[in-house]
Amino acid sequence: MILPVRTIPDPVLRQKARNVSRVTDKTRELLQNMVETMRDEPGVGLAAPQVGISERLIVVEYTEESEDSGAAKKPSRLYQLVNPEIVRHSRDTVEGNEGCLSIPGYLGTVDRYRQVTIKGLNQYGDPVRIKASDWLARVFQHEIDHLDGVLYIDRASEMFELVEEQEETEAVQA
Ligand code: ZN
Repeated sequence: MILPVRTIPDPVLRQKARNVSRVTDKTRELLQNMVETMRDEPGVGLAAPQVGISERLIVVEYTEESEDSGAAKKPSRLYQLVNPEIVRHSRDTVEGNEGCLSIPGYLGTVDRYRQVTIKGLNQYGDPVRIKASDWLARVFQHEIDHLDGVLYIDRASEMFELVEEQEETEAVQA
């Protein structure tokens, strides 16, 4: 089921989301709906507060894009995480542009850790540990920020308004 995405200034986006104490069928159903919503938008990540639910749940779908246009895309990887947290990060950071489904029409330049290690539970309640770098690390940091009520505009050094054709080609929304 595709859920409506909350946009600023909806207060749910600024709340600190609560921990999920037990992973149940209901949790899995919500995660599945978040995946469908993310793909529908389309986005590369989505956090539960963005669909109005203040719980620590995120989904991220990562496709490694080839530099050559027209080349076959590598298969994408889907992450569905419960109570994700960053347990380690690199010292070095990297600047990049990001957008947010909850802040339509804009992109911003944000400095993020180049590499992060995420700990959490998967959709079955099993512990997982993910080491991510570069673009995937950026998406995880963006989504985990959502769980603390932090938006990328709080961290952006520069903001850009999108014109319509850019919205389709360049924007990486999460
Ligand atoms: Zn976002």
